[in-house]
Amino acid sequence: MSRYLIEVKKVKKNFNHKNGLVEIFKNVSLGVKAGDLVALVGPSGSGKSTFLHLLSFLDKPTSGQILFLGKDSKNFNEDEKDEIRRRKISIIFQDNNLLSDFTTMENVIMPLMIRGEDYKSSLIKAKNVLKDVHLSERKNHFPSELSGGEQQRVAVARALITEPELILADEPTGSLDRKTAGEIFSLFLKLKSKNRAIIYAT
Ligand code: ADP
Ligand code: MG
Repeated sequence: MSRYLIEVKKVKKNFNHKNGLVEIFKNVSLGVKAGDLVALVGPSGSGKSTFLHLLSFLDKPTSGQILFLGKDSKNFNEDEKDEIRRRKISIIFQDNNLLSDFTTMENVIMPLMIRGEDYKSSLIKAKNVLKDVHLSERKNHFPSELSGGEQQRVAVARALITEPELILADEPTGSLDRKTAGEIFSLFLKLKSKNRAIIYAT
């Protein structure tokens, strides 16, 4: 078994655009273990989101390999990718991707319902994770009734409820005030101490 949760080997990413080839990055190698907290730092347009998409198998590298628990992601079929994203990886997207017709509580509990977990114990987990992000008072609000920062915290809560081994977060504190950003970061540190790995763009 690989000692890495996820390993990136000499990955290159180009996009074919109508105006020509866009080279985003090349020769990126990285190994991430349980308990690692990794920041992807770079200016806007440098490829952070693209890189996170590759790590969640939503896109494929132009060349190079991405191994998940020692297995080459090239060999995963769509079902296997879905299964890994359901069980082992949680993604917090830049534009939080909340479901607008569902409340805070419903958005947060959704990943457990999709997995077919028991409703009562899921509800307890959802309440706890909402408490962690200080949103207990907003559990019956719809996304449109929340501030940007609150929406972002719902997205964080939804990512944490499944207790994934790897959390990928795209500028998770981008739209948050300093204090809330600090709280989200403390949550990441807490996850790290529980031996979860976090890779975040900033
Ligand atoms: P970041 O998240 O660091 O701001 P992105 O990963 O979103 O950067 O984008 C990196 C670069 O890749 C940008 O210059 C963007 O224009 C380009 N890019 C992203 N997606 C595509 C695409 N589908 N086709 C062509 N170029 C793209
Ligand atoms: Mg981005």
